[in-house]
Amino acid sequence: MVKIQEKVRLKLHNGEDRSYDIDIGLNILDRIGTVVKNLNIGNAIFIITDRKVKKIYAQRIIKSCRAAGFNDLGEFVISDGEQSKTQNTVNEIYKKVYDFDKHRDKKIVILTLGGGVVGDLGGFVAQTYRRGINYIQIPTTLLGQVDCGLGGKVGIDLKEAKNLIGGFWQPKLVYMDLSVLKTLDLRELRCGLAEVIKDGVIKDPRLFKYVEKHIDQILHCDLNCLNHIISTCVKIKAKIVQLDERDGKDIRIILNFGHTIGHAIEAASSYKIYKHGEAISIGMLCAGEIACRLGLFSNKDFLKLDNLIENAGLPNKIKKCSLPDIMKSMMHDKKFVGRTNRFVLPVKIGKVKIIDDIEESLIKEVIRKRMVK
Ligand code: NAD
Repeated sequence: MVKIQEKVRLKLHNGEDRSYDIDIGLNILDRIGTVVKNLNIGNAIFIITDRKVKKIYAQRIIKSCRAAGFNDLGEFVISDGEQSKTQNTVNEIYKKVYDFDKHRDKKIVILTLGGGVVGDLGGFVAQTYRRGINYIQIPTTLLGQVDCGLGGKVGIDLKEAKNLIGGFWQPKLVYMDLSVLKTLDLRELRCGLAEVIKDGVIKDPRLFKYVEKHIDQILHCDLNCLNHIISTCVKIKAKIVQLDERDGKDIRIILNFGHTIGHAIEAASSYKIYKHGEAISIGMLCAGEIACRLGLFSNKDFLKLDNLIENAGLPNKIKKCSLPDIMKSMMHDKKFVGRTNRFVLPVKIGKVKIIDDIEESLIKEVIRKRMVK
């Protein structure tokens, strides 16, 4: 059955109208060609994907684009994983796009087909090639569908810290086919769930309860449950991005709950030990513990968070990285400016607060407690 389950409009009207649709549906991948055609935003398609996703889905996209009349198609395939989100990969893609574009007679639309790595990287190329070209996000991981595929934050990592290079560049469409989640590894599904739990903590206690109640179905990839959590998260994120597109008003920052320490753990372990969702699970627990120690968050709510993370099969301990490395990476976080820091801390399930200047000794103590030799 082919069905658009939901169409959410992300409205951005400041300056020009840069609003776009987020289509969520079942078995809709094969219609992408017609959908792009109808948007009328270009005449040549350049697909950026990773090796694993290419094997499973790229042919369907290519076939659909050809059927819709796009005969001019290019592609770049990255190695999958966070280690590809670098300036080196970006340079290789620029070269390939430039060759594809050598006669300068076409209007290219980039399609990013894959998880958050492809989305962030491809979006960054779209933002910077020829000072900005159109792109469409086709997120294929749960993490991509609930979070990174929408909102226009694009970028790459430095060895020293995550997402340090980048900007904001909104796609023309986000196109999500739920059925692609069926081929996702369980570990990746769990990682996406970490961002869903995050949305529950920052904004939606009912979502948090829903995940508690349906955790087994979700981990068995029940598409009805996934549809519910994805459309809930998409609406939460769209609302936040509409209010604070460029993360400058202390609104969008709440999406970073768990990310300050989480990103630092990822970088301190050279992006090799933890996947993004795993690292932010530990980051959420550390932030939750800091909030408890400051008397902001109850032990009862902390236990709920701890239990849900455990039931989701996500990690709660830090392995194979050192405290000095984590602290060093954290200093690159944009919420650490000068000698001050900013944390998004929970006050209850469904509500967070931004707190400045937390004692470094408390941050270290909480991280140290979770470290295993
Ligand atoms: P990922 O892109 O590395 O994908 C995870 C793995 O799943 C890869 O091996 C990929 O090949 C595979 N995969 C993807 N789709 C598949 C499918 N349908 N079937 C089978 N395998 C599939 O990781 P991710 O978790 O999607 O994204 C993490 C990245 O997202 C991080 O770099 C993080 O910083 C970024 N992120 C960005 C934002 C944002 O707002 N821009 C928000 C959150 C996270």
